[in-house]
Amino acid sequence: MTDAPAARPDDWPDPNDRTCDDCGHVWFAGERRHEYATFEAARPEEADVVCVLCRRQRERPRADDERWSGWEPQSP
Ligand SMILES: [Zn+2]
Repeated sequence: MTDAPAARPDDWPDPNDRTCDDCGHVWFAGERRHEYATFEAARPEEADVVCVLCRRQRERPRADDERWSGWEPQSP
């Protein structure tokens, strides 16, 4: 069984070794993992690395972004 959503090229380094390009999150054991945002770059250094949370943000449709920006926390 494999849970890999997309296979990165074999010669690309583990994205967990890099910080998230969107939020600066640094991976360590037990933390949310990092993934390449795209495999279209010629070299891994040119590809964006994002944590799974930011990857989800990037995949979110624009309409959802607008709803998020309009959200206000309730004060106690
Ligand atoms: Zn992130």
